[in-house]
Amino acid sequence: METIASRLQAVRLRIADAERRAHRPAGSVTLLAVSKTFEAEAIRAAVDAGQRAFGENYVQELAGKSATLAALALEWHFIGPLQSNKTRIVAERCAWVHSVDRDRIAQRLSEQRPVDMPPLNVCVQVNISDEASKSGCAPAQVPELAARIARLPGLRLRGLMAIPAPDANEAEQRRVFEQMRALFESLRAVHPELDTLSMGMSGDLEAAIAEGSTCVRVGSALFGSRKLSQP
Ligand SMILES: *Cc1c(COP(=O)(O)O)cnc(C)c1O
Repeated sequence: METIASRLQAVRLRIADAERRAHRPAGSVTLLAVSKTFEAEAIRAAVDAGQRAFGENYVQELAGKSATLAALALEWHFIGPLQSNKTRIVAERCAWVHSVDRDRIAQRLSEQRPVDMPPLNVCVQVNISDEASKSGCAPAQVPELAARIARLPGLRLRGLMAIPAPDANEAEQRRVFEQMRALFESLRAVHPELDTLSMGMSGDLEAAIAEGSTCVRVGSALFGSRKLSQP
């Protein structure tokens, strides 16, 4: 029977294989376990198997699970669309936000970050291939948004995030990841401290790692398929 522990092991092997084939050092890609729609018990099982970093898309779910599991001191990453009236809980509970796509959200996260916590790690989400999606900043606007984030005291700019259009074929996904890498390299010429390219999910993590991803966000390959209706 497949368990969360065995799936986690399988995903770690996929990552290690992809690193090797891309001639990248072992351990250069981190695994973010995307636990959206799954119960706290599923997260506990992954924690027992050694996983510490979890990604959530919905603020209500983040609030509930991070409270339930507070004693485990997990590393929470927010990866979903963020409305400006819901930034506070993210600023207070998360170590990372991958989905910052506009100045107003960045400002609020910075203001609401508790002063006794380290700055919130931030990636700019780029709308690289999915014109139909409203999430993500246009590639041409990335330099300006990145520069603003870099000046905010409550935030620490770490890099870029992207989600390729869901209907893209493999060649198109690869092309999109390549564009992201180029955008990341050009941004790094201005902000040499950037170290995070968050791209790749259950179905395309190998292609993303081949193109330089440093963080893959994996949900269904770890926790099973999600129900269609989401909270
Ligand atoms: C749901 C989600 C994932 C995980 O997708 P899987 O295909 O289940 O691995 C990764 N990133 C974001 C932003 C998501 O919303």
